[in-house]
Amino acid sequence: MSSLFCCPLCAAPLEVQEGRYVCPSGHSFDRAAAGYVHLLPANRKHSKNPGDDKEMVAARSAFLDQGHYAPLLEALSQAVTESVSHLPRPVLLDSGCGEGYYTQGLFRALEASGHQPRAAGVDLSKFALRRAAKRLPEGEFAVASVYHLPVGDESVDVLTNVFSPLAVEEFARVLRPGGLFVYVVPSALHLWEMKEVLYPQPYENPVKREDYPGFAWQEARPVRYTLSLTDSADIMALFHMTPYAWKTPKEGIARLEALPALDCQIGFDLHLYRKL
Ligand SMILES: [Zn+2]
Repeated sequence: MSSLFCCPLCAAPLEVQEGRYVCPSGHSFDRAAAGYVHLLPANRKHSKNPGDDKEMVAARSAFLDQGHYAPLLEALSQAVTESVSHLPRPVLLDSGCGEGYYTQGLFRALEASGHQPRAAGVDLSKFALRRAAKRLPEGEFAVASVYHLPVGDESVDVLTNVFSPLAVEEFARVLRPGGLFVYVVPSALHLWEMKEVLYPQPYENPVKREDYPGFAWQEARPVRYTLSLTDSADIMALFHMTPYAWKTPKEGIARLEALPALDCQIGFDLHLYRKL
């Protein structure tokens, strides 16, 4: 069976044969029992276990499975299914897919709208990819860098980037002309009430639209709602999904941990770009 991935050593297409990914030059990569493949060359590995750790991934999965970010997934699904309405077998690449909540949701939405999608996800965390492969057995998942995506030139119809590093040149390389790039960014007041607890003087998120070489910006679709969390574990799971988890003084974290409940504004903008 042909794979969506290509060889990280020679860039030739990979075939899946008996649980291994092989290229015509004989390079071979084992698929882990958990369903993902390691395509990150040793010289691009920056630490022994890069990416999110097991506990962070588990907390994030549990949080997402409660549907707290379902409105974002719905907006993503809408944008993606509209963009491939003319394609029977669209190829989706989720760059920085994490534990696969959005990859799975988008795949199922495409199926529900009558497509036979193919989906691949790339992330640095093997713990996240274990869950992603379990969520979506039909998908292909690889440990790889989003700055060196292991997929061929112009081989992807839709590329999604939900809270992960922006590698615009790579995204332009792998998307076919006319393909869709969906870039999810936080709104000015996203998580405002949480920031009011964490910081004496919170700041709004900077918001500006960027133009990227190789892409035409089409529109921004806003997603806004209030999330009511009534469980400290959920509040802390949300906190650990944010960049604030690395830069908040411990007094701020202690104030958040003491909260039994939190009503918080959620705001995202889906920026839709068309590959030129
Ligand atoms: Zn090769």
